[in-house]
Amino acid sequence: MDGKTITTTLFTNGKIFLSGVAPGTNAGLHRPPTFASSILIRGSKIQHVGSESDEPIATALAQSVTVRDLQGKTVLPGFVDGHMHLMLLGQSLTKLDLGKCKSLDDIQATIRAHAAANPDVERILCRGWMHSMTFPKQVACADLDGLDVSGKDRPILIDTKDLHSAWLNTAGIKELGADRWADVPGGTIERDEATGKVSGVFHEAANITYVWPYLAKVATMEQRTDAIMAAVTAYHAAGYTGMIDMAMDQGSWDALQEALIKSAGKVPMRIAAYWLVKPGETAADNLKQVERAVELAREYNSKTTPDCRIVGVKVICDGIIDACTAGLSEPYSHNAHTEVPLWTAEQLEPVVKRATEAGLQVALHAIGDETIRVVVDVLSRFAKPELRPRVEHIELASEADAKRLGEFGITSSIQPVHADPAILRAWPKLLGEHRCKRAFPYRDFADGGSPLALGSDAPTAPHSPLGNVYVSTTRRSYRELEYETVVNGHFALGLCEAVAAGTEGAAYSCFDEGRIGRLEKGLKADFVVVDMEWEREKLVEANVVETWFDGERVYAAAAAAETE
Ligand SMILES: [Zn+2]
Repeated sequence: MDGKTITTTLFTNGKIFLSGVAPGTNAGLHRPPTFASSILIRGSKIQHVGSESDEPIATALAQSVTVRDLQGKTVLPGFVDGHMHLMLLGQSLTKLDLGKCKSLDDIQATIRAHAAANPDVERILCRGWMHSMTFPKQVACADLDGLDVSGKDRPILIDTKDLHSAWLNTAGIKELGADRWADVPGGTIERDEATGKVSGVFHEAANITYVWPYLAKVATMEQRTDAIMAAVTAYHAAGYTGMIDMAMDQGSWDALQEALIKSAGKVPMRIAAYWLVKPGETAADNLKQVERAVELAREYNSKTTPDCRIVGVKVICDGIIDACTAGLSEPYSHNAHTEVPLWTAEQLEPVVKRATEAGLQVALHAIGDETIRVVVDVLSRFAKPELRPRVEHIELASEADAKRLGEFGITSSIQPVHADPAILRAWPKLLGEHRCKRAFPYRDFADGGSPLALGSDAPTAPHSPLGNVYVSTTRRSYRELEYETVVNGHFALGLCEAVAAGTEGAAYSCFDEGRIGRLEKGLKADFVVVDMEWEREKLVEANVVETWFDGERVYAAAAAAETE
């Protein structure tokens, strides 16, 4: 667009979604949405939502306007992913996916074939390993050595599906210098019991501190900006027009700025980011990282760069249940091991205080019930509700803590795709049946008045927003549709409620509800056209037909025939 011609487009004969509730409130289990039939777009904004007989639409029809017959299709606000990892997603799109492997043999065969087919890449980067694929074997570098059949013995680096751990071959250990790495707080460097040498597997903070930055560093700027744009394109196709990056660091931020320059200032995505604060040796180390976020937020905020801004800090306060790294109030059932949170309340306090004092939002990753208890304690004492503090994941929460979220105005940032029954098969063994009854208690969060924000945590999970809504409303598997297990069905969200949580809820979670997240006059024309039936069981058949950003179509499914 040259900026002078302002186009007006009228979409008629559709089902234009209206949640009927104010941003920051939940629609409840049974409340249905209302649907308007027409939406009028002028330039980058929504000019009217209603019916064809409404005055603004009648006026537009009498003038020059492009009319699009939606033929009964549904229009939803552009989805905003409430929690994802932009650079990792972009990079993962080019990594070898091991997600379908069932055993170590499978993994080895897949890598061997990939190495043979790609003799020119510098490193063999893989994703999607799950501990359950190789359990109970303690894997090590030796299991990956010799798989590079090209004869070059290239480094092999594998991410777990959840991205919390990495597994390297001997060439990888050598290239990264991992045998010289010192232990870091909150992380584990696995070592051979007999020799003390690094085994090639790195967990949590060890992975975040060493492996992530290394990979970010060796990627060229071009590879990084390409990764960002690939992620944006994939997100358009899924129906997103906004995303919240939940672990921004300098390398990704630089690449994002570069991508903006390359695209003449316009990456077609509303991006808000939380700066990752890694566990330092001292409180001063931690505060230094908060100061960096404060500094960046001063420059990049809703006034200066509304589509690419720093909104807060993120702290990863525990790991995950499957790796037995989530902090629990009682020991894990299978090995009687008690895991504590990665950050104590005393360590968190100065970080939360300083961020709050500087007007930044605080996002705390907490999965196990003990960690959730600690972070809700800290947020309720040192964060301000008006800054919309948030807890990420909240997978195993006690009834009392679920209730406290709403009481203190804490956003529940949830990723229903992590509640997929197909990936929870180990939980009864790890936690015992009794504790599984408190898994993913979304209904409690919502009924307690905690604002909900839906996210995917991509690339750790599939990023389809409608898949996310499917799991949250049916509590059934989106990965394995035939798998009939329902996980705690009484914690389900309502359909209108879940769609709102993935649009206006996620926008509200980062103070963007005045611009995006709803289909309402004056807001940005960010929306998706979806071929769907308004029924939770039918969501898996829904198709995103078009995605519009800022009044322009940025994605059209190949099958969608132009009608005008
Ligand atoms: Zn995450």
